[in-house]
Amino acid sequence: MKKGIIIGIIGIILVVAGLVSYFAFSKPKITLLGGDYIKTELKHKYKDKGVSVTLNGKELDKNSYKVKIEDNINTDELGKYKETYNIEYKKKIYKIVRTVEVVDEEGPEINTNYEKVETDFCTGKEKVNLTFTAVDNGDGDVTDKVTKEKKEDGYYLSVADSKGNKTVKQVPIVKEEEPAPHIKINGTTPTYITVGDKYNDQGAYLADYCGNKKEAEVKSNSTVDSSKVGTYKVDYSTIYNDKEIKATREVKVVRKGTTTSNTIKGNKIVYLTFDDGPGAHTERLLNLLDKYNVKATFFVTHQYPKYEYLIKEEAKRGHAVAVHSYSHNYKKIYASVDAFKTDFNLMNDIIENQTGTRSKIFRFPGGGSNTVSRSACKGCKIMTQISKVMESEGYYWFDWNVSSGDADGSPTKEKTTNNVINGMKNHSNAVILMHDIHKSTVDAMEDILKFGTENGYTFKVLDETSPKIRHKINN
Ligand code: ZN
Repeated sequence: MKKGIIIGIIGIILVVAGLVSYFAFSKPKITLLGGDYIKTELKHKYKDKGVSVTLNGKELDKNSYKVKIEDNINTDELGKYKETYNIEYKKKIYKIVRTVEVVDEEGPEINTNYEKVETDFCTGKEKVNLTFTAVDNGDGDVTDKVTKEKKEDGYYLSVADSKGNKTVKQVPIVKEEEPAPHIKINGTTPTYITVGDKYNDQGAYLADYCGNKKEAEVKSNSTVDSSKVGTYKVDYSTIYNDKEIKATREVKVVRKGTTTSNTIKGNKIVYLTFDDGPGAHTERLLNLLDKYNVKATFFVTHQYPKYEYLIKEEAKRGHAVAVHSYSHNYKKIYASVDAFKTDFNLMNDIIENQTGTRSKIFRFPGGGSNTVSRSACKGCKIMTQISKVMESEGYYWFDWNVSSGDADGSPTKEKTTNNVINGMKNHSNAVILMHDIHKSTVDAMEDILKFGTENGYTFKVLDETSPKIRHKINN
């Protein structure tokens, strides 16, 4: 009997232990990740950290339970909120709650236009102007509360919000890296010399970014042939820190009598210009100019082919030869940009044949302000178009500011002389329009040249460096 009781008691103990363990170990354990109290910053998005669910110390498969969260968290308002998790596992609901407090513990955010302030390598001057804004999650815009302090290693911007949360932002001040040195050319580029003169290269040197001369051998390679009119190059190069540094000088070998910006002297400057030739009176004009040793500019045409050989003579005697027009037929040349260029190039071909060089300079037939071109190309703003194209191709054009009047009505020697001399007196740079196809014009030249040379005027020819005396384009 006793034995039976003992067995009975053991049996009961086993059943109770089994039940206890069944209930104890079949209930999942829920843990709040991040704890039962979480702080979250005002106006920032609240991110739930979640829970972990375990059974007998083992993580449960996420698909074996469902989580539903109920909360009333408002991150726009300071305060404490409840976040309740309802976990459904094996048809049973388990609840767990945590407190979420919305706090303001962050200082304002400072934004700057640059993350660092670079200073110029040579001058030490700051290369940028540092500006900033500041916004606080509680107080809004607090830019006007920011203080800016400059210390050796940078700017310190600081600001606090109304809760006392402080932000300091450092914007470092850094010296810019030394920029690479460069080759500095002595004198000017382009350098002008007169044909036949000896060319002495003024050289070049290596300079650091601040302009100080650096010890380095600069090699040069010149293509200059001073016996021929043209544009040449002198290339300079050196090796610095295994890198090649280069520069180029342009050398312009110009005709005798060509004056450039390098050689301006005297007070009043006169540019005698002759259009529409060469013609029957051109040779006599050339002889007169020689007599006074004055150089002029000829805007030539193909209107009198029999005298074309004089273009060569004009260049030979040191005058400037420039393009006027091949046909001088307004209707034809102003019909389109292409028509203009065709006519222009035909004339420049002749010039090249005669002188060996094409001209970069021209004068529009009728002048830049002419309106005759309007009917040649209706509504197409032809003068604007042509001048744009020609300028973009490196051509220079000139009008005049003194008209001799020798193309108006019936010109006389006296009228022409008076107009020209008055014009010379009234302009510091007189570009005078004349036509060497008129006898009266050439007749007037002796008095004009005499007056000019006796009264200290400087006669020059037009080139790329001359003042751009031009009329207003009208169409
Ligand atoms: Zn003309």
